[in-house]
Amino acid sequence: MPMINRLTIIGVGLIGGSLARALKAANACREVVGYGRSADSLQKAVELGVIDRAETDIAAAVKDADVVVLGVPVGTMVPVLEQLKPHLASHTILTDVGSTKGSVVDAAEQVFGSLPPRFIPGHPIAGTEKSGVEASFAELYQRRRVILTPASTSDSDALEMVRWMWQQAGAEVIDMSVEHHDEVLAATSHLPHMLAFTLVDTLARLEDHDDIFRFAAGGFRDFTRIASSNPRMWHDICLNNRDALLKMIRRFSDELHTLAAAIESGHSEAILETFERAKAARDAYCENSC
Ligand code: NAP
Repeated sequence: MPMINRLTIIGVGLIGGSLARALKAANACREVVGYGRSADSLQKAVELGVIDRAETDIAAAVKDADVVVLGVPVGTMVPVLEQLKPHLASHTILTDVGSTKGSVVDAAEQVFGSLPPRFIPGHPIAGTEKSGVEASFAELYQRRRVILTPASTSDSDALEMVRWMWQQAGAEVIDMSVEHHDEVLAATSHLPHMLAFTLVDTLARLEDHDDIFRFAAGGFRDFTRIASSNPRMWHDICLNNRDALLKMIRRFSDELHTLAAAIESGHSEAILETFERAKAARDAYCENSC
């Protein structure tokens, strides 16, 4: 596979910045160009060595790019693609890192009429609760998975290039349908974020919330780490994976009500069964992945 000559990152934050750092560390690209709304954060990206060149003009940013990566929040995909469309050369490969895939494909269809064959949607299953280029680091994708959701019309060269790019960043790349991606991620990522945000917000609004936070221990810290994630980004994710997420929220609410009923009626067998099933499932998950 040839090296990427020019890589353009649209939105040089945690995810786009970490990809740029990883590809530079692997000598997988010659030049990284960064585009964003704010000249200050792009300047920071240059100073940190994340990008080689900053552009606030989108035409200049994507000129002669081999690969363009959209590292922006999923709620901004339509306006960003509209800006990009007139300047995208026919050979340029386009991909994204958005946490929802149905909405990104819908955005591409809205702007281009159909998903362009050289637009390969992607999602790295890696991240932290931090945001911005300052939080980016080259090792973020090491031994992590990246899901690509190509269509039957996708260009195979473009698909293989995007796969190769993520492999150079240290990731294992898996192909999946858009629908399956959105269902799986609603369960494993989007629902847990909704629970963490809601739990912390509920406790913070209790009258004696000072004591509640003062006496919270490691379990609370572990469970709620992701409630420190970027609110705007998660606002976009929950609205852009609405159907799959609502299905999981309803399923979880039913299970929580069942547990509450078991606690109310002192049904110790049902309570123990729930906890034992959960412990066995988490222990098995940790043996393979933690
Ligand atoms: P981030 O650190 O906040 O970075 C987002 C970047 O996009 C910032 O550089 C921001 O620049 C730029 N941006 C925002 N709106 C823009 C617009 N309209 N036009 C141009 N640039 C714009 O967020 P992130 O965590 O990297 O997330 C980026 C994407 O990755 C999201 O789609 C998210 O769903 C996905 N993702 C996130 C995670 C995670 O754990 N964080 C994991 C996997 C995938 P400014 O300086 O102008 O604000």
